[in-house]
Order: sequence, then structure tokens, then C-alpha cells
Amino acid sequence: MKAPVLTIITYFLIVFRCFAQADTGSMKTHFIDVGQGSATLLEFSCGVVLIDAGGENNSVVDSEERLKDYLQNFFSERNDLNNTIDLFVLTHAHLDHTLGAKYVFDSYTVNNVITNGKTYGSGMKNQNAIQDAIKDLASNANTSDDIGYHEAIADNIGASGITNDIIDPLDCSNGDPQIKLFWGTMINQQDLSNSAYTNGNNHSVVMKVSYGQSAILITGDLEEDALDLLVDKHAVSIDADLYVAGHHASKNGTTKRLLEAVTPKIAVMSFGDLRVTKEWTAWAYGHPNADIVEMLRNSVSDTRAEKEVWVGDGAKNFYPIEVDKAIYGTGWDGGIVFDASFDGTWSAPILTETKFRTRKILISVNTASQYELEKLPGIGPTKALAIIEYRRANGSFSTLNDLDNVPGIGQSSINQIKDLIRF
Ligand SMILES: [Zn+2]
Repeated sequence: MKAPVLTIITYFLIVFRCFAQADTGSMKTHFIDVGQGSATLLEFSCGVVLIDAGGENNSVVDSEERLKDYLQNFFSERNDLNNTIDLFVLTHAHLDHTLGAKYVFDSYTVNNVITNGKTYGSGMKNQNAIQDAIKDLASNANTSDDIGYHEAIADNIGASGITNDIIDPLDCSNGDPQIKLFWGTMINQQDLSNSAYTNGNNHSVVMKVSYGQSAILITGDLEEDALDLLVDKHAVSIDADLYVAGHHASKNGTTKRLLEAVTPKIAVMSFGDLRVTKEWTAWAYGHPNADIVEMLRNSVSDTRAEKEVWVGDGAKNFYPIEVDKAIYGTGWDGGIVFDASFDGTWSAPILTETKFRTRKILISVNTASQYELEKLPGIGPTKALAIIEYRRANGSFSTLNDLDNVPGIGQSSINQIKDLIRF
């Protein structure tokens, strides 16, 4: 009798070890900091989805360079993926979503593409180039170079969304991601005003990606009127854990009705760094909008380590608040990576502050706002406020030594910032 008992025990030990060692897989969501714009990479054990490749482009921020760096680092760490993007989605043809799209398309093996099919908009050049290239590849005699293409048409999407092998090309052995679309180009104007109907944002691709019990919803730049139509049609299907705040958390990109349908645990806003005080930036637009951040605070259920952040009260005007609800922003936090398991567990994200590597800003200590000063190394909100108060009381700084007189600022602080400031 001894031998069979031992065999059974050994069998159970082997089975147990297999389960213990099995790769349970995960869905990693990388919010790449491309400044004012969006680029989101979903990483699975068997492949990746890239949603938008946009960003900011001015004398300070070169988002295409940031996207290149990020993707190169990513694919060098995941060399099992062979520089392949299984699905590339452009939510709509605006530059803050398409600026780096041609680079991505030309530099990586892209197997499937979704766009809203539009051929106009500020980012039309790259969207058109990709749509045309896909048509050319499909029309030549060689079928091995064909790229799967789906044009998202809102009118063709039923209440529970639409999926097929192009929209959802992934099937990982340790958990099958489910990808569905819920919006795209509207053929029928429905009851929208002419201005709402002709607004390119309202034709954004909306997608939900589920990995077991974990789900993320991306609404592109859909604005209030179209969000209402989306909720009318799909309220029961768009529940998600992570809500990517629509239209970069601008005043018109999130509604209470939408949040009631989504019931998010976490919200992430993709917007630019307020230090960049130029046109077409988060600073110029007032992103993230204070009312939207308040709406998200009342909606998301998870928490984060408390952080002092800036919120927009109209264009170019910001005030600080403390957040302890799970609301994150690329303009607040830099790069953000979430890891979600198949059983619906979301770990705290990894935040990577963005360094201005390619084009350095020199901050004027005599004119900089508190939010510009606080991000200097070793400064933070309290020392930034001290600099501003000292400046108000004593007038302009003219040398580094003047800064030594500010309460809380000593020689070690000055050494950290001396190459980053001007007078
Ligand atoms: Zn946008």
C-alpha cells in the first residue's frame, strides 16, 4: 500500500507546485507622459495594444521623442514581443492623439488598426497616411503584408458593444483580454446640434478592455452631448474599474451620468505639465478642470497617497488642492503604470516623474508661479510658497546667494536647482 500512497502524495505535490508557479498573467496599463495629449499602452503576457500616439509639441516638450524613448525601452525589456503591436487604435484625428502615430506605424510591426475613418481634423495627416498605407497593402497581390483594419462606426454598434478578430486580436494562455468598441464615427446626427455633430471629438472611438474581473474604459475626447448618447445606448455595458478621464479632464469630457454608469475605482487623466506656459498646453486650457476633479473625487472608490496638486479654474488659472482619492494625472504624476490581475485586483500604480531631457526649461525665480517652482528638485509646495512670499516682500532675486535668505532654502537646495533656474 505504501507505494500508491506515496505516488498520490507526489502527484498532489507536483500539481500544487504547477499552480504555485503558474504565471497568472496581468493587464498592465501604461499612461505614457506625452504632455498635453494621450498615448496609452496596454501590456499583456502575449501582446500589446497602443491607444493613441499623440502629445504636445512646442519649444519645451517633444512628445514624439518621449514616445520613442518609452516604446524603445518597453520593447527592449519585452523582447519576446518582437517589436510587434497587436492592435493600434487612434481614437480620433486630432494632433494630441496622432502626433507620433506615423512613427509608431513605420517603426513597429502593427498587426491591426482601428480608427474612426475620418480624413479631416488637426491630426488628419498621420491618420490619413496610416489609413492609405493599409489600403495600399490590402490592394497589392501580396496578402502576407495585409494589416487588419476596422473603421469604428457608432451606428453599427449594438447595446453590448462590438468585437471581432481585428478589434480583439489577443488571446493569452493565462487569461484572455476582451476588447470591445462602443463608439466611433456617427453617420446619423440623431438629436445633436450641428456644432456638436461636426465636432471631431464627438466621433472618438470608445473602447473597453476587460481582463477577467478588471476593466478599463477609454472615451477619447467625447464631449457631453455625445457622452449622453453613449450612456443612453450602452449604460449597462461600460462599467469599468479604471476610467480614463475624457478629453484630458476638460470641463466637457466627463458627466455625472457617465460616472454613474462606469462606477470607477480609479480615474486617470492624461494632460500636460503646467510648467509649460505656452499655447495648446494643459496650462492654456486649464486642465485638469477643478469641477471635473471634484466630480471624480465623489465617484472613484479607491484611495491614493495624499498629494497636493493643481486644478484649473478656467484657462491659465490654477489653485492647489489635496487629493487622497485614486485620481492620477500625467501632468501631476508623470508616467503612470497600473497592474491589474485577472481576479480584479488593482495594485497601487508605479509613478515615474518625467524629466525634461530633450529640452530643458530654465525657470525664472522672479516670475515663476508656485506650481512651476514646486517641481524643481528638492523644492516642493512649501519651499515654493516660501520663495514666492520672500519675493513679494523683498523684490526680485538677482543672485543665487539671495535665495539663501529664503526660509527653508539652504545651500544644498540651491545646488540642486542652480542649473535649472534663471533670474
Ligand atoms: Zn485630445
